[in-house]
Amino acid sequence: MEAFIPRVVFIQKAALQYPLGNKLMKEFNNRGIDVSLYEKRVPTTPGRSFKDSFLCAKRTMVVLVRTRREFQTCKPSAHYQLPLVSGCPGHCEYCYLNTNLGKNPFVKVYVNIDEVLEQAKEYINLRKPEVTVFEGSATSDPVAVESWTGSLQKTIAFIATQDSARFRFATKYGQIQNLLTLEHKGKTEVRFSINSGHVVRKFEAGTPPLESRLKAAREISLAGYPLGFLIGPIIRFPGWRGEYTDLLNLARTQIPEGIPVSFELITHRFTTRAKKIIEEVYPDTEVPLDEEGRRFKYGQFGYGKYVYEKELMEEMEEFFRTAIKTLFPEGKILYFV
Ligand code: SF4
Repeated sequence: MEAFIPRVVFIQKAALQYPLGNKLMKEFNNRGIDVSLYEKRVPTTPGRSFKDSFLCAKRTMVVLVRTRREFQTCKPSAHYQLPLVSGCPGHCEYCYLNTNLGKNPFVKVYVNIDEVLEQAKEYINLRKPEVTVFEGSATSDPVAVESWTGSLQKTIAFIATQDSARFRFATKYGQIQNLLTLEHKGKTEVRFSINSGHVVRKFEAGTPPLESRLKAAREISLAGYPLGFLIGPIIRFPGWRGEYTDLLNLARTQIPEGIPVSFELITHRFTTRAKKIIEEVYPDTEVPLDEEGRRFKYGQFGYGKYVYEKELMEEMEEFFRTAIKTLFPEGKILYFV
């Protein structure tokens, strides 16, 4: 799958004062992509339905300067979110971003990466000698636009120079070739989001096939990066055991023996708000959104979500722990939720 090609691009005028803003302007013009400049607010078309605005924003790239200096915290996976990109062109129907980014989930890329990294350095210095961990994919899939921005490349090289910092990000995209020859010093962990063939085919439109994610995972591990697999949402459907067994077997064939892979295992859950948005944007969705057979649970951020019943969760956890222990004896399960 080729890198994301936006249908429309909005560039903030202030972004043209940065080399990346200028470079992107030229590249989009050369490729005949429709580019408009804006000053303060990205123009939107009034009167559009939620669904039309949402789908249009997914194909729109916004190039801008990040002015907010503070970073948001990112517990439990890291100390801070590292703001490089926000939004994602993928159409995973269950995506957690569906509820986070509102009616216009533009794919936003920040041009002032050097300033963002300067700010990161301040956080690192403040916490020394403790190690500070940054998460690069809290509100995006940053690899989806990496071939345009090079932000991950810069960040990985920067983190390699810091003795008290680590960086991690998760992705479904396979365009990681520009990361393979970087000096990373093992301080960046790359996690690939994978799922059963059934889930990928049914719910992950606009994202690369499983095989290309696993191929990229192999390349990343051979390049010496710490590697992780994020399996989620784990969905129970007829034949789920067989399909998830196939997934783990396939992953095993791609990853060299002896590499300590980490696993993050996330069962499917949904909030009432997420259900409403998913059904509005993807009216034919087959994502399981029936409250019946689910348990309502309050999360750490105060809102409730529907998770699988306790016995079903236990059954799934047992299955994954056993399968991973057998196939990846050197693997480590970070959590199962
Ligand atoms: Fe969301 Fe990740 Fe899919 Fe992008 S690739 S739509 S961030 S789940």
